[in-house]
Amino acid sequence: MFELKATDLAGRIGLLTTKSGTIETPALLPVIHPSKQEIPPSLIKEIGFNAVITNAYLAFKNKGEEARNNGIHKTIEFDGIIMTDSGGYQVLEYGDINVNVKSIALFQEKILSDIAVILDKPTGAQLDRDYAERSVELTLKAAKETLAVVTNKEILWTGPIQGGVHLDLIERSAKETSNLNFDIHALGSPTEIMQSYDFKKLTDMIITAKKHTPSNKPMHLFGAGHPLTIPLAVALGCDLFDSASYILYGREGRYLTDYGTKKLKDMSYLNCVCPICCSLSLKEFISLEKETRSFQLGVHNLYVLIKTVNDCKEAIREGRLWEYIGIKAKAHPRLWEAYKNFSENIEFLEDGVPIFKSKGLFLSDIVDNSRPEVLRHKMKMKNNIRFRKCKLLLLPETMVKPFYKSRIYSNLKKELGSIIDQIQICFLAHPFGIIPIELSDIYPLSQYEKALKPDSDSNLDQDMVDDIVSIIYKNKISEVFIWIEGGYTQRLGEAVSKKIEINIVSSIEELRNKL
Ligand SMILES: [Zn+2]
Repeated sequence: MFELKATDLAGRIGLLTTKSGTIETPALLPVIHPSKQEIPPSLIKEIGFNAVITNAYLAFKNKGEEARNNGIHKTIEFDGIIMTDSGGYQVLEYGDINVNVKSIALFQEKILSDIAVILDKPTGAQLDRDYAERSVELTLKAAKETLAVVTNKEILWTGPIQGGVHLDLIERSAKETSNLNFDIHALGSPTEIMQSYDFKKLTDMIITAKKHTPSNKPMHLFGAGHPLTIPLAVALGCDLFDSASYILYGREGRYLTDYGTKKLKDMSYLNCVCPICCSLSLKEFISLEKETRSFQLGVHNLYVLIKTVNDCKEAIREGRLWEYIGIKAKAHPRLWEAYKNFSENIEFLEDGVPIFKSKGLFLSDIVDNSRPEVLRHKMKMKNNIRFRKCKLLLLPETMVKPFYKSRIYSNLKKELGSIIDQIQICFLAHPFGIIPIELSDIYPLSQYEKALKPDSDSNLDQDMVDDIVSIIYKNKISEVFIWIEGGYTQRLGEAVSKKIEINIVSSIEELRNKL
């Protein structure tokens, strides 16, 4: 069972119930080697991971007898939730004739995995279309074969989606896998894409998989264990991750930070406060004997990864996932590229954005002009709002919010008396566009913070002009007044006046004379 607790963008906090307990998602499952694990699973649990993943094929090869007799929990000495990956990669690599789809499925049942994965055929980053197509077909065939032989209803089965970089194949794979009613879906093997930091491609792959699978099932992303990849994937709706990065990086002397990896030997300061980094100086850390250093680095890396996951969850809870991804995105140009292109998928991302949030929006960059909350208001103005009055007064936005509490509005009310009731009053607020005074206290129209002088954005200006003109036509407005106070409103007023007849005013006197 998978129950959603909170959402923001396509990201969600959920509870996934397995036979060994419940995991709160998003969750990262550290990879445990069934026979050569360097960091004890008990320590991994202590750090805060209550679910891990291990490789069914390697367990079968190295600990087959023990796992069959005692179960996987005892074999790898972990009493939390255990997912087993089928080991598709390894089987391919070694071309083992002793295992097949059926035997790997039954083995996972026998060892009592909590979450199991069918023996799939990963596409990888293969550009060859025929190869990719074949991997989709073989994976679907294996999915059907697996579901036909397994009987333990308590085990959650994962159906991997293949297709590599071919989005139409991902779509087909996702649709057909969804028909098989798996408990969990997974996007297969985008490892090379992630390693090359092609975040834009990764975004397209995840969104394609997500759009064509049921939203009430968790989505696992194979092989994502980097502090930049996880937040992006969370925002796009991935719920589960697995990675061996903590120990692989550890062996290579690589130290994870919130924004990427560094070579320990190149660092000047330890910038982490995990128990490892608090107990060692950088010099001591570097001069540790290789094996110990790899262990300690592995533990440190796990602390960074759990922090990343918790930061994502906190951002979802606060409704600040957009802001959080924006901060992360600045750490790598290609992540920024993917983030900047979120606007191409705004309908997909908007779905999980709550109508009301406990915190206001931070509008810091031109990118924020197309965030879902802003576009949602614009769509509402375009499709749902109709004015009853035929005179329209557009006022510049004020620091005081909601706008009906502003001085300009109370002065107008005082000076114009009942005349004001015949005029539809709206504010021009960057980047929302037109805000009718009646809506000005509705979230987020008075709950946002932005630069005192926002960056000028010609696209946004053009949108605003088009919106004003379209609203004037749609609402059969006969007279329009724009109150100019220089800068932004000046620019808009002049642009609108080129398209349509309007009255530019800048004082109550002027307005009264023209009314
Ligand atoms: Zn540390």
